[in-house]
Amino acid sequence: MGGARLGKNVLLITIDCLRPDHLGCYGYRRDTSPCLDQLAKTGCRFTSAFTVGPNTPPSFNSLFTSTYPFSGDGYSPLPGSKKGLAEVLKGEGYSTCGINSNAFLGESFHYEKGFDHFENPFREPGGAERAINDLINRSNYRKLKGVSSFLEWIKVNFINSDPRPYLPADNISRRALSRVEENDAPFFLWVHYMDAHLPYMPQDDILKEWGLRGKNLGEMVNMKRLIERREEPVSEEEIVRIKEIYDSNIRFIDRSIQELLEGMGEDTLDQTYVFVMADHGEEFGEHGHVGHFGKLYDELLRIPMILSGPGIPKGLVCDHMVSNLDISPTIIDLLEIEPVVDFKGSSILDDLTCVEESNEVLIGEVERLSKKVFSSNIGDRIWSFRDRNWKLIRNEEADILELYDLENDPAEQANLAGTGEEMEGMLNALYRNHVDKQRGERANSEKRKLRTAFKNLKL
Ligand SMILES: [Zn+2]
Repeated sequence: MGGARLGKNVLLITIDCLRPDHLGCYGYRRDTSPCLDQLAKTGCRFTSAFTVGPNTPPSFNSLFTSTYPFSGDGYSPLPGSKKGLAEVLKGEGYSTCGINSNAFLGESFHYEKGFDHFENPFREPGGAERAINDLINRSNYRKLKGVSSFLEWIKVNFINSDPRPYLPADNISRRALSRVEENDAPFFLWVHYMDAHLPYMPQDDILKEWGLRGKNLGEMVNMKRLIERREEPVSEEEIVRIKEIYDSNIRFIDRSIQELLEGMGEDTLDQTYVFVMADHGEEFGEHGHVGHFGKLYDELLRIPMILSGPGIPKGLVCDHMVSNLDISPTIIDLLEIEPVVDFKGSSILDDLTCVEESNEVLIGEVERLSKKVFSSNIGDRIWSFRDRNWKLIRNEEADILELYDLENDPAEQANLAGTGEEMEGMLNALYRNHVDKQRGERANSEKRKLRTAFKNLKL
């Protein structure tokens, strides 16, 4: 018996930009995550979980379709040729619901695929804010930076506008909860929280509770400048403050997750697998920026991952290397559904009982964005290949090769490429093999598209 007949629900909680080393259960000094810490105690926590992509689009491609971003028809928008988890679960009789507020995860990027109910709402600016936004745009941002910053300052401090381009976590939890109440079980519910994403909004009450400086005038404007000031290094002092604000948002998300879990009630939770993870991490100056741009270093690829639910060992800490490519196959496995042929990852349930150390090679893929952060320009393609101790990063178009000894240099600062390390050849061979296969897949997909276009022409 599998699928919906099992009567088990799945709640998949994803959190944008959440670094594991900022959570209590991963050893962080600040009390950012009491709810998630408790969840880790009632389930299993993965210490070596990684995402395939260091930003939202490639990461969610791998999470939902269990395919590599560069394989087949690419990753954004989510191509119709890649079957998603929600489609599979819907086909198995689950009631499927997705709630998020990330611009890259909306209908225009085809993320509603397979969901019976899908919400991707954004905050609508009020009239006064719209007018100021208009003035900012017209003040020709690059030439009149001072004017535009002043307008931003007025906007944030006097119109009391909310600079976040997404819905806050408590709102997302409320929406999710109302679906749980309305939906018939069994359900697959995906909830995505954005509050740890730039521009970080200082959570005043939490900062004060921690004895830190609360929200102050102009801070949001400064934050915005930090993102835009991509060519200049951010000072130590600025990083300290950025982390305080980032942490206050994690606490806010944690509180909202608690509201959701408590609202669901024990009876429902007893029948629900809860998966919590991030789509990627966040950089705080480790490689020159604040945020998450197209790079494949561990501050962006390492993610938290917690799984709890019926039959999951309580308080287990699993050190096996797992990828977010494995999430969809794991959910399918938990629900005893036939494996999906196109899924490239594998279920991590075996990792829970296996004590032997695994030494898998995990792959990262991303298009390095062009200089303008939010430009739709496609940059170079970058791949990373890593086992537990070594990582190779390859950008063929820009002729960049990096090799890091992760055991002795976990911060990935000393590039050992070309110094005769044996692992360079081994990881490079894996890279070649993988990329050649992807090129073949892409060529086939181009041929398929041409054939379809030709057929349509004849009609
Ligand atoms: Zn993201």
